[in-house]
Amino acid sequence: MQVPFIDLKAPYKAQKEEIDSALQDILTNTAFIGGPRITAFEQNFASYIGTSSCVAVSNGTEALFATLKVLGIGCGDEVIVPANTFIATAEAVSLCGATPVFVDPSPSDYQIDVALIKRSITAKTRALLPVHLFGHPADMPAILEVARAENLFVIEDAAQAHGARIGNRTVGTYGLAACYSFYPAKNLGAFGDAGAVVTSHPDLEEQLRVFINHGRHPEYGHAVIGTNARMVALQAIVLDLKLRNLAEANEKRRQNAATYNELFAASSVADRIVTPPEREGVTPVYHLYVIQTERRDELRAFLGENGIGAGIHYDQAVPYTRAYEHLGYKPEDCPVAYRLQDRILSLPMFPELTREQMEYVVTTVEKFFS
Ligand SMILES: *Cc1c(COP(=O)(O)O)cnc(C)c1O
Repeated sequence: MQVPFIDLKAPYKAQKEEIDSALQDILTNTAFIGGPRITAFEQNFASYIGTSSCVAVSNGTEALFATLKVLGIGCGDEVIVPANTFIATAEAVSLCGATPVFVDPSPSDYQIDVALIKRSITAKTRALLPVHLFGHPADMPAILEVARAENLFVIEDAAQAHGARIGNRTVGTYGLAACYSFYPAKNLGAFGDAGAVVTSHPDLEEQLRVFINHGRHPEYGHAVIGTNARMVALQAIVLDLKLRNLAEANEKRRQNAATYNELFAASSVADRIVTPPEREGVTPVYHLYVIQTERRDELRAFLGENGIGAGIHYDQAVPYTRAYEHLGYKPEDCPVAYRLQDRILSLPMFPELTREQMEYVVTTVEKFFS
């Protein structure tokens, strides 16, 4: 049996006709940049998340960079980010000229440890940039409390958590703004790179629109030095159509995670594998299904030999990458992230995964350890 890590073809097949005809429309009308398709997606995505506005951008990294930039974050500033995240979170901070300060995750849910955030705040700290890693919400109420006490901006990196909730509230509505990636493999994926920032602050929305379009202001011409980080219309069309299926796709991911959990609990490797934790009261959307295991690299190779795609997110926590070695983080500075980087393994996870495929994954893990 073959179990790919992810299946990008299935969601396209399911909506092929409507996607093809919408794309044909774009080609016929040559409306490549801007226009009503972008606006429609922005409105629909903002309403799905529960914010008043959304600014469509070219990718998730630009979403983060533009947001930090328009908030005035720059040289000499510090921004607190999780040690275990995709490097883009930290890159956006560095690209602004500011310094990322890495905070270890809590071992109980892999999300940024709020108690440690407090200890990492200095006179230079301007913002907190939590990530909802693997689709599991960070503890936003606690993070907002720290931010309020210390007068810091909060920006959510929701690139892995489209539609995840804390109680009934969707992540992305807690911070001043939230940044999304629509990289094809994300829960809501485009046909290439795309991203968005959502916010309920009209001033911030306007500044973002200006910044991502060469600083062009509707009244004042090129009012600031901006950049080009616009989403192309083609991606907005694809995303708007796929958004209709997002809630259902997320629900299927959750069901698949429950099936894996149940199969592992009943398996002979129940005591060797740590299945993904869920903090009480949250609804994760399982962008990834990440287990902890010993002999991770050997297990991954064995799965590969048996037709199963598995990934590692991430094999080096950001402070331990070569890109960030100049900051001098030692293993004991972020011990949880340091330990996790050798133990985590992401198993196949996508909405269309079947029970038979998951059974095969779990029996193959059992076979490896027996
Ligand atoms: C994917 C991702 C990004 C960056 O998004 P791109 O669209 O690839 O630029 C940022 N943060 C996290 C946590 C991500 O997973």
